[in-house]
Amino acid sequence: MSHRLRPASRHARALLKRMTLAEKIGQLTMITLGDQPTGPIADPVTIAEVHAGRVGSVLNLAGPERIAQVQALARATRLGIPLVFGLDVVHGYRTVFPVPIAEAGAFDPTLWRETARVAAAEARRQGIHLTFAPMLDIARDPRWGRIVEGPGEDPWLAARFAAAKVTGFQGADLAAPDALAATAKHFVAYGAAVAGRDYAGAEVSATSLAEVYLPPFRAAVEAGVAAVMPAFSDIDGVPMTAHAALIAGRLRRVWGFDGVVISDWDAIGQLVAHGVAADLAEAAALALRAGVDIDMVSAAYRRGLPEALDRGLVEPEAIDAAVLRVLALKERLGLFEAEPVAPAGPPPAAEAAGRRALARHAAERSTVLLHDRSSLLPVGSPRRIAVIGPFARAAGGGSDRIGPWAGLGDPDQASSLPAALRARFPDAEIVSRVGVDAHRPGRRDIAGAVAAARQADLVLLCLGEPADWSGEAASRAEPGLPGDQPALAEAIFALERPTVLILTGGRPLIASAVIDRAGTALMAWFGGTEIAPALAGILAGDVPAGGRLPVSWPRSIGQIPIFFAERPSGRPFAPDNPFTSHYLDQPNAPHFPFGHGGTPGAFALSDLAVAPVTVGPAEEIAIAVTVASTAARAEDAVVFVFIQALKALPNRPVLELRAVERVALAPGETRRATLRLPAAALDRLGDGAVPEPGRYAIRVGLDADRSRHLVAAVTLETR
Ligand code: BGC
Repeated sequence: MSHRLRPASRHARALLKRMTLAEKIGQLTMITLGDQPTGPIADPVTIAEVHAGRVGSVLNLAGPERIAQVQALARATRLGIPLVFGLDVVHGYRTVFPVPIAEAGAFDPTLWRETARVAAAEARRQGIHLTFAPMLDIARDPRWGRIVEGPGEDPWLAARFAAAKVTGFQGADLAAPDALAATAKHFVAYGAAVAGRDYAGAEVSATSLAEVYLPPFRAAVEAGVAAVMPAFSDIDGVPMTAHAALIAGRLRRVWGFDGVVISDWDAIGQLVAHGVAADLAEAAALALRAGVDIDMVSAAYRRGLPEALDRGLVEPEAIDAAVLRVLALKERLGLFEAEPVAPAGPPPAAEAAGRRALARHAAERSTVLLHDRSSLLPVGSPRRIAVIGPFARAAGGGSDRIGPWAGLGDPDQASSLPAALRARFPDAEIVSRVGVDAHRPGRRDIAGAVAAARQADLVLLCLGEPADWSGEAASRAEPGLPGDQPALAEAIFALERPTVLILTGGRPLIASAVIDRAGTALMAWFGGTEIAPALAGILAGDVPAGGRLPVSWPRSIGQIPIFFAERPSGRPFAPDNPFTSHYLDQPNAPHFPFGHGGTPGAFALSDLAVAPVTVGPAEEIAIAVTVASTAARAEDAVVFVFIQALKALPNRPVLELRAVERVALAPGETRRATLRLPAAALDRLGDGAVPEPGRYAIRVGLDADRSRHLVAAVTLETR
């Protein structure tokens, strides 16, 4: 917890006194040294800047030798202030875990923390100090490609995810050899980009800003996050990089955030294009006054701040305060002590095996069974398995990374789906055919794929979107199956072989017709290093697909944006009344609701009991429910507790998530589960909420489908 401003150390203040203006601005300057983290260090000019002490941090450089080489230049400068090396360590470094949207669906804070801890240990050992993660953008529009990088549609879930990731990356001590400083991004409402188009502005109401978009960031601050990155987008005409009310105001003054604020890539310079600054001096002044400490690559601080000072647009004290925050981060990271030399070579075998086991567990817990209409799981002992489709060899994305950098993960660790199937089904003949291109029409061999599938007694149809079609700058107006994949699917379904659809992708893919025609459908997302063996194990019935959807899965583009926490309508849908909120041509409900997954029909909830039914604001509510399994194998039920505030102004969503529990059940087991909610959890999410007295519904279910919830009422009294 970091609610008090940390006073700058004597050492930092003494350093500040000795610094020239150029050296101070240098501490506020983050540069990149090449086009790729592992490419050549291309730019002699920027190297000279490091040499002159005019750089404070470097991003996107990887490899311990190269980092040590550049760090030595910084240590040899007049003041010898070390650099911070930052990188987008999002879902792994060497061991690649499932992408965040997938991992969010594990609904498992321990897992979220553990995978961040391993990523931190692997990256810090290679000389990285800071990660630009976790991304905490609530996303309710799968056209937006960066939905892959965040925890989904719900702010309560995102706040839990934030706390787990920050504590996982940072540990107890940022100076430890296995800790990374974390960056909560993108502050705030970046995911609300109009029409899902990346870099577009956000149209958000004050209520949804407070209740939906801000709470995950507050949770990150409460967990002690070291850095925050403002979003590229604007709110109400004010770009976030210049948003004094939200950065200097909400984040620092109200929440007590005392870490550094790092701009997004070139975002300070882009204030000119945003139409709020005439030149770099004005842009630099706006950002610094708003509370942005570090300029990522735009050079606006280096080129604009001296002039901004001359023109009286900024106070020298504002520069000093930002420099002290940067120095404080370097102290917390232990950079003023001698840094350990990164040990060469891969980690010890036992450690590596433990990490792979964690990646396997994460992949199993993140994969979602969308349906098993033909009860194909487990698949038994097929004699011939045909693996068909553009993801036949890399279902689940293998070791692919999201973001701009491919190849940081260790490709040798990941096995292909056919190889994993061969290992798990040694007696089966495995054939694979790609059939069509993953991106676009053309280059197709549907006939070859059909011929391979015709003889098979199990077909695995591996469709989806390629890794470079999700992530930054990867918005899609039609987020379905690209290219000729629907035609391939059609040809395979026409064979009427038992067919399991395995979807790869970074978002819910709008492909209802294909999904519904498969006998069984699994969402593998980009599942990381161990996704192929995880899928083989799920097919064999060794483990269930443990994930649940952290987003509502739309049935059509026209339903977007879609999310369960809708505001109540004065005319809620009623089938017998046409003047109620609905579409003429489609249902309101998504194809699959938030929380959907698990073996269909395997779990039943009954006997909801809530006590006490009248609670004071400081009391706790015990919510007990009977969970019964009819599954043939051990499997977790994932139980969701939602609340519904029946009256408030402004009103409250029809459903608000407040607790989730994975209940482990043996085959046929019945258990009574008790979840506890403090009465304060009946509040709105957001700052300064006060519990409003009155009636609340407690709704318990296996997903966000309201028609299947058990419902009880509590009355909150103010005493
Ligand atoms: C992204 C950030 C990322 C940064 C550095 C930007 O384009 O928006 O999320 O951290 O690049 O790679």
